[in-house]
Amino acid sequence: MKCLTVQQIYLYLEEELSPEKASKVKKHLVSCDKCRRALEERRLLHTASLSLPQWNVPPNFAEKTIEKIFPVEKRKFRWAPILATACSSLFLITVFSAVLQGQKLPAFLFGVLRTVWGFIEKTSLFAVKLIKVSVNLVKVLQRFLEMISQELSSLTGSLGTEIQVISISLTLILLFLTAFIFRRIFITGETK
Ligand SMILES: [Zn+2]
Repeated sequence: MKCLTVQQIYLYLEEELSPEKASKVKKHLVSCDKCRRALEERRLLHTASLSLPQWNVPPNFAEKTIEKIFPVEKRKFRWAPILATACSSLFLITVFSAVLQGQKLPAFLFGVLRTVWGFIEKTSLFAVKLIKVSVNLVKVLQRFLEMISQELSSLTGSLGTEIQVISISLTLILLFLTAFIFRRIFITGETK
């Protein structure tokens, strides 16, 4: 058996492999130092992500927080229709330029579909893992956000708008930084 892929390691850890495959993996692990180490690293990450605290969010938590942070601007900016328009325009432009360059439309669309499907196939398993980790991360961040929002509401009465804006910006920067660090840890862990 060849060395294990990251996907196989995760499937093995989550006991999602068939019994025959699992026993092949087990045999390989006995003889391969490198894979055993890789498995242990993933096991640590896996256990860590499972043991993050479960945290129950109060009802309407996200809405209330957003209302506190963006009291006036909320619901003014509708990004979904803009994004949809941009995506479909991009798609139409691609199709038209392909047709103009003399490619046959069905063959072209088939090629696009195959590329997209290949991409989805390659990334989906990793995406699922990333989502699982992210959900736990989001729970922690929500707790953090709630603390911040409580702070904000107690400050709102006494401080000026500029200070509110500065503290919101700092919070956002901190959040992005945290997200970025976690992303680096998990993604560089994957592609190694
Ligand atoms: Zn190996």
